[in-house]
Amino acid sequence: MKWQIEDTPERAAFRAEVTGWLRDHLPKGWMEAIEAGDDDAFDAAKRASDWNPFTWNALVGANGYGAPLWPKEYGGLSGEQWMQQIVREELGRYRLPLVSLNILGVGLAGPTIIEHGTDAQKERYLKKILTGEEIWCQLFSEPGSGSDLASLSTKAVRDGDEWIVNGQKVWTSIGQFAKFGMLVARTDPNIPKHDGLTYFILEMSTPGVDVRPLRQLTGSSEFNEVYLTDVRIPDANRVGAVGDGWRAARTTLMNERATLSGLSMDQSSIMGGTRKDPWQSFLEGIEDKTDANVRQKIAQFYIEQEVKEITAFRASSARLRGSQPGPESSVNKVFNAEFNQRKSSFSMNAAGMASVAWVPGAGGASDSRMHAFLRSRANTIEGGTSEVLRNQIGERVLGLPRDIDTDKGLPWKEIRRN
Ligand SMILES: Cc1cc2nc3c(=O)[nH]c(=O)nc-3n(C[C@H](O)[C@H](O)[C@H](O)COP(=O)(O)OP(=O)(O)OC[C@H]3O[C@@H](n4cnc5c(N)ncnc54)[C@H](O)[C@@H]3O)c2cc1C
Repeated sequence: MKWQIEDTPERAAFRAEVTGWLRDHLPKGWMEAIEAGDDDAFDAAKRASDWNPFTWNALVGANGYGAPLWPKEYGGLSGEQWMQQIVREELGRYRLPLVSLNILGVGLAGPTIIEHGTDAQKERYLKKILTGEEIWCQLFSEPGSGSDLASLSTKAVRDGDEWIVNGQKVWTSIGQFAKFGMLVARTDPNIPKHDGLTYFILEMSTPGVDVRPLRQLTGSSEFNEVYLTDVRIPDANRVGAVGDGWRAARTTLMNERATLSGLSMDQSSIMGGTRKDPWQSFLEGIEDKTDANVRQKIAQFYIEQEVKEITAFRASSARLRGSQPGPESSVNKVFNAEFNQRKSSFSMNAAGMASVAWVPGAGGASDSRMHAFLRSRANTIEGGTSEVLRNQIGERVLGLPRDIDTDKGLPWKEIRRN
């Protein structure tokens, strides 16, 4: 992070607390090497230690810094937005992961359980989300329902203290590694689509859950299709009231946008421990820095990067402690997604032939450049497409007339679906 609002004494004291904690827990020489700008010393400090992003994630999560806004009793710091910002700044400064490896758990499931869950659910799930001991996935999208999520067809029928679930989900990121999933299912087909939904926590090892990885453009299998056949979920795993699932789902979606909006989603944000900061690596990948057009573009990216970070900071500062993000989170999500795509296309063009002579999985600069380029195609789809988010910005931020809704007032079973 290149800019920073000047600290008040209270903020400076908290920052000192965070860096003090880092100094106590990071390998010897790590922080000193970064402070001295010495990449070789940094590499040496890292090599000499047993630091890895998984144990680091657990340590940060167990000490409140993984979610400063969460209540103390559930593993957070009961903190305020500025505290979260300071933690992020210090983690970024010392090249540590900015997001949890359990990103859907910390970013989406946790805030939803805090807002809509029972005390027993908060007690059971939140701390293990933070430490990454239990990985979560999001079982929302279906083959026939993505943007129009509320039209989804997976159904849940009550049977005593349990629900029996049948249907198919798709695009389920990290479903193959997850212990739990956030599931939205239809519990009443006879009323309008938004009113007949209920939100559940699904244990992924339950009989009848079949997770099938899908291979994507980049060659990896980040997401899955998930078939649900007579899956039994205890009623104790229901989040919120029967028929109130859309409200809980909206909390998840708003948090998803806020989570995705501040991130470049590059490896360093997730895994940390990189030799250089991502901006430095980006610059080094561009061979001809003398070309006037290239220089103009680089300067423009730098300006946009700054604007993006400052806007994300302003949006998060405007939220009160514990309150949920609103439709304004869509603004940064749209910008960030398109910014990532423009930046990665530019870096492919600027590297010329080196970009296309690509051996998947071989490592090195061309591999990571191509991976970033291909992966960024998904940025304008995942977490809500840019078209749909622009509609939301139009309606909820700018107060424009609502998009046409031909399903309004109709029972779900009568609406047209694909
Ligand atoms: C990498 C990746 C990871 C994902 N991970 C998950 C996950 O973990 N869990 C999960 O549940 N989902 C996940 N998704 C799914 C994602 O939320 C959906 O892909 C997204 O909501 C779009 O839905 P769709 O693919 O069905 O497209 P559609 O909704 O069918 O949209 C098709 C096209 O129509 C446009 N469109 C649709 N409605 C409108 C409208 N009203 N106005 C203007 N244009 C419109 C869209 O913008 C799009 O261009 C993931 C997606 C990706 C790409």
